[in-house]
Amino acid sequence: MNKVIFLDRDGTLIVDPEDERVDREDKIKLFPDSIEALKYLADNNFTVVLITNQAGIAEGRINLQDFDRINNKVLEILAPSGIKILKTYVCPHSALDKCECRKPKPTMILEAAKEFGIDLAKSYMVGDRESDIIAGINAGTKTVLVKTANKPVEVKEATYTAPSLLDAVKYISANYTA
Ligand SMILES: [Mg+2]
Repeated sequence: MNKVIFLDRDGTLIVDPEDERVDREDKIKLFPDSIEALKYLADNNFTVVLITNQAGIAEGRINLQDFDRINNKVLEILAPSGIKILKTYVCPHSALDKCECRKPKPTMILEAAKEFGIDLAKSYMVGDRESDIIAGINAGTKTVLVKTANKPVEVKEATYTAPSLLDAVKYISANYTA
C-alpha cells in the first residue's frame, strides 16, 4: 500500500493538554486546521495510520477501554474530513516500562507496515516531538516535524519542519514520489 502517512495524535492532530494527557473526552480539542489538513490528504488519495504513546494508561489514569472510547470520539470528530484512518496503534506503557513499542522505537510503525503492506521508504511519519521523528527514522520513513507542541522543539534530523499540520501535508503531497 502506498500513500500512507503515519500521524502522531496528541500535539499533532489534537491539542496536547497542559498535563499532556488526553484522559477525558472533554479534553479533545482539534487544531484549527486539522480537518482541512486531513481533507487535503484525502483529496490527494492518502490514507492515515495513527501512532500514539499513551503513558496515561501505564499511570492508571485511563485503561485500554477508556482509551478506545476517547480515541473513537477523536475518529468521529475527524470523520467529516473524509480521511480513511486504517488503524490506531497505541503504546500503553510509560518510559519507565522499557517496553518494545513506545516511540522513539519503530515497532508500531513496523507492525502497521507488515499488517497493511506499506512501503516505508515512500511513507512519512509526522509528529510534534523528537520521539516521533526518531521513530520514523528508525522505521525507515521520511519525517515531518510539526511545530504545534506546547513547547515546540527543533529536530535537525527531520526531513522537513512545518509550522502547522496543513503546511506539513501540503509539503508531503508536493514532494511525494510514487
Ligand atoms: Mg505528540
